[in-house]
Order: sequence, then structure tokens, then C-alpha cells
Amino acid sequence: MDLTTAYVFDAAHRIAGHPGKCAWLHGHTYNLEVTVSAPSLNPLGMVMDFDDLRDVVKKAVLDQWDHATLLAADDPLGPAIRAVQHQAPERVVLLEGPPTAEVLTREAWTRLEHQLPAGIMLERVAIRETPSCGSAISRPLT
Ligand SMILES: [Zn+2]
Repeated sequence: MDLTTAYVFDAAHRIAGHPGKCAWLHGHTYNLEVTVSAPSLNPLGMVMDFDDLRDVVKKAVLDQWDHATLLAADDPLGPAIRAVQHQAPERVVLLEGPPTAEVLTREAWTRLEHQLPAGIMLERVAIRETPSCGSAISRPLT
């Protein structure tokens, strides 16, 4: 059995080198959906407590990404924004690749997978940049 929780976060990003408007720094209100499973329900009849899953997602993803600027590690905007925003350099998050929905979904999966309690499996992570555009990873990994 599985359970799903959904979250909203706001972040800026750009896809450096994109031939169109995505090359310019802009923001999205992202939607993140996380699904986990367990082979059996706990004594309270739960896969896991929703609040416990929210805590994991908050620590693994939302605390770093909400109201942050998400950039590729080699994007020259990273050091420039950190210099201006010197009081909070951690609000510029550098990723192993351009901050597309696909890369963010993969990164969220990695961050979440290692922080779930024993016996809880990550089944699906989905991130939407807009109501009609998004990416997802499901087990088995696709
Ligand atoms: Zn965008």
C-alpha cells in the first residue's frame, strides 16, 4: 500500500543555453508530490504518519529549495547572485545539471531516498513547474 503527500514551493531558475525564454532568470510555483509505500501497515493502520513524511520532505527538499535560486553548478549567475545575496549564500542551490523539472525530480528522489525511515520505500516523485508541465520518477526507476 502507498500514500502520497503534496507540497508547493517557490523558486527561481534558468536554463542557461536554452534557445528561448527559459534562458532568462524567472520563477515558478512548483508542485512536488511524493509517494511512499510499506509492505504492511503499522499498528496505527498507516504506511507512515503524514506528519513524519512531511518532516522528511521538508528537511530533504523544501528547506533548501523553497525561495531559493536553483542553478546549474557551472552557471555564472551562481557566484554573482551569492555575491549580492551574501547574507544567505545557501539560497543559491547549485545542481549537477541544468535545473529542469527532470533534473529537480532526480535530485529530489536522491535526497528523499536516503532519509526515509527503515521499511519505507520511495515509489514516486513528481515535480510540476506549471499545472501542465512536469516530470516524474517512479520505481522501478524510469
Ligand atoms: Zn522555468
